[in-house]
Amino acid sequence: MTDEFTTEVYYDDDADAAHITDKTVAVLGYGSQGHAHAQNLHESGVDVVVGLREDSSSWEQAEDDGLRVATPDDAAAEADVVSVLVPDTVQPAVFEAIEDELEAGNTLQFAHGFNIHYNQIEPPEDVDVTMIAPKTPGHILRRNYVENSGTPALLAVYQDTTGEAKDEALAYAKALGCTRAGVVETSFREETETDLFGEQAVLCGGIAELIKQGYETLVDAGYSEEMAYFECLNEMKLIVDLMYEGGIGAMWHSVSDTAEYGGLTRGPRIVDEHARENMEEVLEEVQNGTFARQWIVENQAGRPQYNQLHEAERNHEIEEVGARLRNLFAWADEEEEETDEKAE
Ligand code: NAD
Ligand code: MG
Ligand code: MG
Ligand code: MG
Ligand code: MG
Repeated sequence: MTDEFTTEVYYDDDADAAHITDKTVAVLGYGSQGHAHAQNLHESGVDVVVGLREDSSSWEQAEDDGLRVATPDDAAAEADVVSVLVPDTVQPAVFEAIEDELEAGNTLQFAHGFNIHYNQIEPPEDVDVTMIAPKTPGHILRRNYVENSGTPALLAVYQDTTGEAKDEALAYAKALGCTRAGVVETSFREETETDLFGEQAVLCGGIAELIKQGYETLVDAGYSEEMAYFECLNEMKLIVDLMYEGGIGAMWHSVSDTAEYGGLTRGPRIVDEHARENMEEVLEEVQNGTFARQWIVENQAGRPQYNQLHEAERNHEIEEVGARLRNLFAWADEEEEETDEKAE
């Protein structure tokens, strides 16, 4: 640990809403995060203008939701705070379009640190650069706000020219409903690197490979696709729910002693020292910028490798088996709708 990594946690009482309610916030993008930020800020008394391309299908939606809409450069021109909530891969281009509208003392606000940390956006020296990154998909951020509960978030300050960057970011978090739950202070570097590592090694990449390899091992050994699906994918949620509620211990407590003994003796043979070494390598590629460069070049080339992997993943047998089995359940419709939203 370096002293760049802190663990301050802030709540409602630590934030003064006046730092944001007296300002105009341009929310660029009306996707997962954008619609939730715009609506929560608006209902918290902040002057919000949504920035969208003129041909955007979201333009009418945002207006129907009671918000003002303008093009990104017009929105940025009138704003004190510009919240950049378009996809990370298009942020550099959108930034170019609004850069000239930033005035001294304005704020560039992010929900993820990628473009700042890897120098894809180089902000002017006379603006504040901050991050409020809610730790949920946007529709949950919105739902929690409406239901008067909170959503945890990360806060980081990259550049503070006004001396008020952190107070303003805290006020922004309060207006989103995040200080109700707790806002943890971090840095752009720490948020970016841990987010990328987590989604690559453990959450999205790690868990999907674990499930597929388990499924394939059973099916290749002659067991039915249905059994393999239930054991390796469907039951994952039950196990993760237990860990989410009470830690790994709650999971071991709830499963049988046989499962606990088998898991504790066999688990480390599956995710073994090689997995650990590979994790360290993956982390190094995040830290030294290798991953970022690869992803940036991949986008510039029109995503050839991404498209191929995306297609192969979609066509994996487990997806077809899963679609068939999930249809057998009454709860399928509801759950499918929720998971349509992009999770981070
Ligand atoms: P998204 O893909 O859901 O939505 C982006 C929106 O941007 C689109 O709906 C559209 O309105 C607009 N847009 C798309 N392409 C555009 C273009 N070329 N020019 C102008 N506007 C365009 O994005 P998101 O998932 O909400 O991500 C926004 C930011 O929030 C990212 O920095 C992301 O890392 C961060 N974040 C996302 C989540 C999440 O759960 N989705 C969680 C935390 C942080
Ligand atoms: Mg401005
Ligand atoms: Mg991420
Ligand atoms: Mg994350
Ligand atoms: Mg079982």
